Amino acid sequence: RMGAAVLPVGTGNTERQIELMQDLGTTAIACTPSYFLHIMEVAEKMGVSIRNDTQLKVGIFGAEPWSLETRKRIEANTGINAYDIYGTSEISGPLFTECHAKNGIHVWGDMFLTEVVDPDTGEPVAEGEQGELVFTTLHKFALPLIRYRIGDLSIMSNEVCECGRTHPRIMRIMGRTDDMLIIRGINVFPSQVESVLMNIPEVGDHWEIIVDRKGPLDMMTVRVELTESGFSDKIGDLMKLENKVSKELKGVLNIAAKVDLVEPGTIPRSMGKAKRVTDNRKV
Ligand SMILES: [Zn+2]
Repeated sequence: RMGAAVLPVGTGNTERQIELMQDLGTTAIACTPSYFLHIMEVAEKMGVSIRNDTQLKVGIFGAEPWSLETRKRIEANTGINAYDIYGTSEISGPLFTECHAKNGIHVWGDMFLTEVVDPDTGEPVAEGEQGELVFTTLHKFALPLIRYRIGDLSIMSNEVCECGRTHPRIMRIMGRTDDMLIIRGINVFPSQVESVLMNIPEVGDHWEIIVDRKGPLDMMTVRVELTESGFSDKIGDLMKLENKVSKELKGVLNIAAKVDLVEPGTIPRSMGKAKRVTDNRKV
């Protein structure tokens, strides 16, 4: 009815994805944000400007937590509008997206009863407070779910959106109750690390966290890939940048992390959900 065709291409063979995008005049793409960052990088290597050589206007990105700073980067570098999508395979795959206001994901209130609860007690939190999402399906027959705990952390708003819709909104997913790292007793979400890194212009789009235990002490290392222009062969410049990254991480996380700056192209790329954390601690 909209005159739109869907091309289910899957991930992998990124050069081919970009050629298809050009040949068929693709206007929208849906994938994980980390895979789109990879597409951007491959396009640049191929000499293809997403802004000028494709008709891409919209990106719908989800299935892993991503920060506002990543959205800003994607939009600034490609000229597309990047929207957040939320879904879960237990309910019915992709469920809800943002509207043009980009201020929270609209939950279809007549289809799902949405609650936000304290992950420890299961009690609802006050509006505007962060907690774990809990859904009840109101229209499913074969596999209804009642107060199903998703494990994703968010904040819910019942205020009317500027687009006029009155459905409740859930804010950008902050992480999961189970990808939260506890480092020396302090809660750390990979999404916090991402938002710090994406605000530093010399830092590229790829990074990872490695956690080890030396004796009784947890050690967190953040490996950070630099951009081509941010990379320097002067050791003094690199040390200065390393200090800057580690100071800003400490300001947000409240714990010290070792920072390893690496050359562009060092960290393995992801075709699906990015694997950001390697936890080598024995439980
Ligand atoms: Zn809206």
